[in-house]
Amino acid sequence: MKKNLDLEEMITHRELEGKRTSMTQRDASTQWHPYTQMKDFGIHLPVVSARGSRLFLEDGSFLIDAISSWWVNLYGHGNPIIKQRLTQQFDQLDHVLFAGFTHPPALELADRLLPLLPGMSRLFFSDNGSTAVEVALKMALQYFWNRGEVDRRVILAFENAYHGDTFGAMAAGGVGVFNQAFADMLPKVIRIPVPLSEDDPQTFEALEKIDLQTVAGFIYEPLVQGAGGMIRYDADGLSRVMSEVHHAGGWCIADEVMTGFGRLDTFFASEVIEEKPDIICLSKGLTGGVLPMAISAASERVYEGFLSNDRGKAFMHGHSFTANPMGCAAALAGLDLLNSGEIQRSRLSLIRQQADFARSVMDHPNVEECFSMGTLLVIRLKRNRSSEVYDEFRDRVYALALANQVLLRPLGNVLYAMPPYTSTTEDLKIMYKGIRAILNNIPID
Ligand code: PMP
Repeated sequence: MKKNLDLEEMITHRELEGKRTSMTQRDASTQWHPYTQMKDFGIHLPVVSARGSRLFLEDGSFLIDAISSWWVNLYGHGNPIIKQRLTQQFDQLDHVLFAGFTHPPALELADRLLPLLPGMSRLFFSDNGSTAVEVALKMALQYFWNRGEVDRRVILAFENAYHGDTFGAMAAGGVGVFNQAFADMLPKVIRIPVPLSEDDPQTFEALEKIDLQTVAGFIYEPLVQGAGGMIRYDADGLSRVMSEVHHAGGWCIADEVMTGFGRLDTFFASEVIEEKPDIICLSKGLTGGVLPMAISAASERVYEGFLSNDRGKAFMHGHSFTANPMGCAAALAGLDLLNSGEIQRSRLSLIRQQADFARSVMDHPNVEECFSMGTLLVIRLKRNRSSEVYDEFRDRVYALALANQVLLRPLGNVLYAMPPYTSTTEDLKIMYKGIRAILNNIPID
């Protein structure tokens, strides 16, 4: 492999002299990057093209995209099936507003997606995972406002949850670093610990103290909490919390932004949880990761709560690009791919390889916990102190991964990999070799 850049040095700000290119210089003077302390960051790596699981840098070297470009790219970069459908759609209809108008790709998407979503009968479109959550929370809260149930103003969520960065989504999230600057301005959310067993006393004793008659909606990441640290928890315990919320008349909101479209063992995590949600949030993999789009799918009962002779009871929410036809076309191509024999085979092979690798490093002296769930691999590294999501230890692991040709974005001491389903054996070999190099070389402090 051609390798001119010392990636570890570049991103850790060491020996930057002479390493800046015209692209990185322009970036340094015009861009403001997400989740980044711009004052002490080194160089933002110039990616000029991508194919499959590989990101090609300006100098001709490549990285394995082991996190599917923030969990979105399920079918590989530059996928020809998505490209073909997008080209056809662009020739037909690029965009039209969705208030007062409809179009074929939105209708076809509803026909094909709704049967896959347990209990859902309506699609409400928006632009990203945070807006999918924002919409879902607003639906739950307004449903009860429309009925005059003014005491139902509380959202119930799990500790350690992550649901996005807009105000409602931030409020539902339990991770300090993402929302601490706005803590005094967020909507009312009550948090309980995730259940680690069907009758985990920590969860159910906390739940008992809450007046569930005030809860409009309960939002959760089904089966595994993502950005909060890849925490898996008990499906039956979750089902029990949901049924208590339902029993008291509130709505259950499944945030499947990370878990949707086959990331875990089934197409949607909600399939394996006995109690079913009333609203499901989708984004990320929805368009195969090529266009920003999100859906908050709702049951007919939720939808009916907005039907009224009073126009003020309509759901007064929308975005310029609601149900953008190009996004819908990419999502349709995504469903074709997800159901295709080829993707099913390569996804199953990825699931097997992740499980094999997890088993092979489980007893490594630097590994505290390691598991795979479907296509997701999680490794919790041992540390002598507690970790923060964006601490310096994490930065070192990130840099070491890049130096080994792998893009990973650890969360504190949690290393995870969720590559595209189309990753080749060769791609995965490089990825696993990089992860082993981290395990063998990271100084545990
Ligand atoms: N919900 C979950 C479960 C997520 O993992 C994320 C993003 N990581 C979001 C919501 C927010 O999505 P977005 O970044 O597209 O706003």
